[in-house]
Amino acid sequence: MSRSNTPQGKSSFLTGYLILLAMPLLLAMLTLYIVSKLHYQDTIEQKLVSINHALSLAEGDIHRQLVRALGTSITADKIIPIAQSDKSKKYYRDIWRDQVKQNDLLSVIFYANSSGEWFSSDDQQDFRFSIEHNSNAVDPRTRVWFKGAEAVPGNYYWSPPYEDALTHRMTITVARLIDHHDGTSYGVVGADIDLPAWSQRLDAMLSRDNALQHLLLNRASNRILVHSNPNRIGLLFAPSWSNQLVGTTGSFYSSDEDEFVAYSTVPARPELLAITIQLRRDKAALRYGTMVLVVTILTGTLFVLAAIIFRLKIERLIATLLQTVKQLRVMSQEEQLSHLDKIHLPEAHVLKQEISIVSEQLKASFERMNRDPLTGLYNRHSLNEKLARLHETDSDYVMAIIDIDNFKSINDTHGHATGDAVLRRISTLGQQLLGDRASLYRFGGEELIAIFEDMSLELARLTMDEWREIASTLTWREVGMQISFSSGIGRRNGLSQEAFFVLVDGALYRAKHAGKNRITSVDDYDDPAPTEQE
Ligand code: GH3
Ligand code: MG
Ligand code: MG
Repeated sequence: MSRSNTPQGKSSFLTGYLILLAMPLLLAMLTLYIVSKLHYQDTIEQKLVSINHALSLAEGDIHRQLVRALGTSITADKIIPIAQSDKSKKYYRDIWRDQVKQNDLLSVIFYANSSGEWFSSDDQQDFRFSIEHNSNAVDPRTRVWFKGAEAVPGNYYWSPPYEDALTHRMTITVARLIDHHDGTSYGVVGADIDLPAWSQRLDAMLSRDNALQHLLLNRASNRILVHSNPNRIGLLFAPSWSNQLVGTTGSFYSSDEDEFVAYSTVPARPELLAITIQLRRDKAALRYGTMVLVVTILTGTLFVLAAIIFRLKIERLIATLLQTVKQLRVMSQEEQLSHLDKIHLPEAHVLKQEISIVSEQLKASFERMNRDPLTGLYNRHSLNEKLARLHETDSDYVMAIIDIDNFKSINDTHGHATGDAVLRRISTLGQQLLGDRASLYRFGGEELIAIFEDMSLELARLTMDEWREIASTLTWREVGMQISFSSGIGRRNGLSQEAFFVLVDGALYRAKHAGKNRITSVDDYDDPAPTEQE
C-alpha cells in the first residue's frame, strides 16, 4: 500500500494553489493602478475647472468695467454734450484720465466725431489723431471701431483684436455711437483694452504653474483675444480637440495632444470662451505610476516570500506526517505515542488521539483474529504464526500438547454446555498458572498447546505438572465429575516443525496409554512411540 509522493508532485500542487492565491493580489494591484490613473486625471480636471471658472468670472468683470466706463460718459452727454466746448472736453478728459489710471488694463478712452474731430484721456494721442494739426494723422472715421459703432447704433460694439496705430500694441475697442442734438453730426465714444497687459497679467497669475495656459477665444472668429502667452494674441485657434468645445462649460482630457482642457463662456459675453489647458506632465504622472509600481513590487515580493515560507512549511508538514505514518507501521503503540510527543505539529495532540483510537481498534481486531472465542486462548492460526516465526529464526523452545481425558464421555454424561465450561475453566487455570512464562493456544477440540520460549524442559514440565495437579483436584458443580488432562512435552533441539510435533504428540500418546492424568516427556523413553495399532 506504500504510495510514493515525489517532491516534484508536492511542489506543483502547492505552486498551483499559490498562483491561485496571487490572482486577487494581481487584480487588486491592477485596480489600484487604474484607479490612481483615473484619480490623477480627475484631480487635474477638477483643478482646471476651478481655475478656468475663476478666470472667466474675472474676464467678465473686466468687460463690465469697460462698459461701465463708457456708460457714464454716454449718459452724461445728454446733460453736457462731450464735444460742446473746450471746457466740456476738459471735463470729460479728466474723468477718463481717472478711469484709465484706476484700471491698468484700460489703455485709453476717447471721443471722435463724423467731422474727424478727436480727443482722448491722453493729450499726446489728441495731437497724433487730430486732422487739424497734422495732415498725416490717422482719420478716426477710417478706424474699425468707428465703423463698427456706426453700424450698431444704440448698442456697444466690440472690435476684434487689432494693432493700435499709436502704441502698436494689440488691442480691442468697445465703442458706441452718440447722436448729437443738431441731428446732422454724431460722435463715437470708445475705450481700448491693453491686451498684452492683460495677457501678462494672466501669465503672472498662472506663473506658479508653468504647465498651465489660459486664453480667451472669440468663438465667432475663432481668434485668440487674450493668451497667457502674449505672442499668440490675435492668432487663429485650431487644436485637434476644438470640436470638443461644446456647450457653455466642460472639461476633458485629449490623448492626441496629451492635454487636459477646461472651458466656460464668459458671463454676459457668450461669444467669448475662457479656456484653461494643462499639458500632461509626465513627471507628475510618473510619480503616481512609480508609487503604484513600488507598492506592486513590494507587495509582490512579500507575497512571494510568504508563499515560499508557506510552501516550505506545508512540505515539511506533509513529510513529517508521511514519516509519522510510515513509522507507525513498525512501532509498538507505546513507541508510536512517544514518537508523536516529539513531533512539533500544531495539531499533534489530535493526531495522537486519532492514532491511539485507530491503534486500539487495530489491536482489538488483531486480538479477535488471533483468539479463540470459547476459551479466550490464542487460536490455531496464531499458533501457526508463532511456530513459523520460531523456526524461521531457528529458536529452541519447549512445547507441551495437552488433551483432556475422556472428554467425549463428559459431553455425553453432562451435556455439551458442561463440556464447554470445562474447556473454559481448564484453559483459564492454565493461563493463570503459566502467566507470561508460556503462551497457550487452543489447537483444536479439547487439545491445547503451550509454548515455553525461555524455560528449561525440566522447569516447564514442573509448571505443567502443577497445572495438571490443580486441574485434577478441582471440584465441579456436576456431582461426581472429575476432570484431568494428559500432556506430552519436549524440547525442540533443532528438529523440524513436523518431526518435533510428531515427537511430542507421541509423548502425549504415551501419557494416555500409561493411564492418563500425567505429563510425559519425550526424554522419558528411548524407544519410538507405539502406534495406535499397538
Ligand atoms: P481421551 O481421554 O482418549 O482423549 O478420550 P476422549 O473422549 O477425550 O476422546 P476424543 O479425543 O475422541 O474425544 C474428544 C471429544 O471432544 C469429541 C468432541 O465431541 C468433543 N469436543 C471437541 N470440541 C469440543 C467443544 O468445543 N466443546 C465440547 N463440549 N466438546 C468438544
Ligand atoms: Mg482429543
Ligand atoms: Mg480427549
